[in-house]
Amino acid sequence: MARLRSKDLAALALLSACSPAVPIEPQPSASSSAAPLAARASAAPPPAPPPSIAPSSAPAPAPRIAFSVAEAEEILYPAGVPGDAACPPATDAPSRVRCLLELRYGGHEGEKKTALSLFEASGSVAGVEREQMMDGGFRGTLHLVPELPVGRHEKHLSWVTASSIDFDAFFEGLAKHTDKPVQYRHRPIAWKFFRSVNRTTPSAYAIGWTVAYNVSGSLHGSADAVRETLFHEIFHLNDAARSTGAQQWSRRVLGPIHDAILAKCGTRAACLTPYAPTTTMVRGGTYYAFQPNNGDAVHEYAADLAARYYREVRAVLREEKPLRPAFKCGPEENARAWRLLADEFFGGVDLVPGC
Ligand SMILES: [Zn+2]
Repeated sequence: MARLRSKDLAALALLSACSPAVPIEPQPSASSSAAPLAARASAAPPPAPPPSIAPSSAPAPAPRIAFSVAEAEEILYPAGVPGDAACPPATDAPSRVRCLLELRYGGHEGEKKTALSLFEASGSVAGVEREQMMDGGFRGTLHLVPELPVGRHEKHLSWVTASSIDFDAFFEGLAKHTDKPVQYRHRPIAWKFFRSVNRTTPSAYAIGWTVAYNVSGSLHGSADAVRETLFHEIFHLNDAARSTGAQQWSRRVLGPIHDAILAKCGTRAACLTPYAPTTTMVRGGTYYAFQPNNGDAVHEYAADLAARYYREVRAVLREEKPLRPAFKCGPEENARAWRLLADEFFGGVDLVPGC
């Protein structure tokens, strides 16, 4: 299935501004370990008890706090928590974050409920991006402004929350097929919503366990499209978490494959088609995975490959019709990249039938 409908391809199809990400220590996936997750290597959270394994009829356990109170405050109120905020500062961290969420989403009951449910289930906090001017590479300079996902933007908060639930199911499904740890963090995430003034790009970008989400993003047309875009973005965070020096995993390990494809094809779409993990293209450019002037394009190749892996393996886990043709059944470079990715990030699991 194509990531985008053909009419969407005519629009600027941009996944990510993909600023160079800050190297972060790898953290275990919440689905594969009982250990609490750290928000950032530089801002370790207070230790939290491991979650208890409770029957489904038991009350939901308190969320594992990965973001410190200070971080949650910054996500919800980047310009500072209002001085008259009615949230007592001395309460325990989850209570303080819940109170701030209730305050931030005040007057929007449905959205408040969704933001609280996202926090309870994943520890993720849905807030806003700071206003800023961004160098968007081939997109030019962009003016980003905070935009809370309420009112006519409410669907985006719902889609993020649904994606988070889907990712839980995906990683729980994967874990059943391997004895190896799945070293992949898909939650908690700092969700920072914004609007790009007079533009529909970038749709999203990722840095430091944060995914910034454009409520007017050209790729955010449906729940399915959003889910795959967010998987792509969260992959960037995990790729950065495996950095060695300045090199992300994708440069170090997939770089030779990506470089060889570029040497062979340049930016010629017809030549690149068999190698492109998704159909996402840039108007006037080429496949997103091979687009120049967009940072190191191997980062995008790897994130699109991860999104393709998610799409194909998810279909198998859900006993849906398999996607054809399977990516790994294309040129031999595809099979190599697929195996390297699965081994590093997904416990070596490959549920897609052989070619
Ligand atoms: Zn990207």
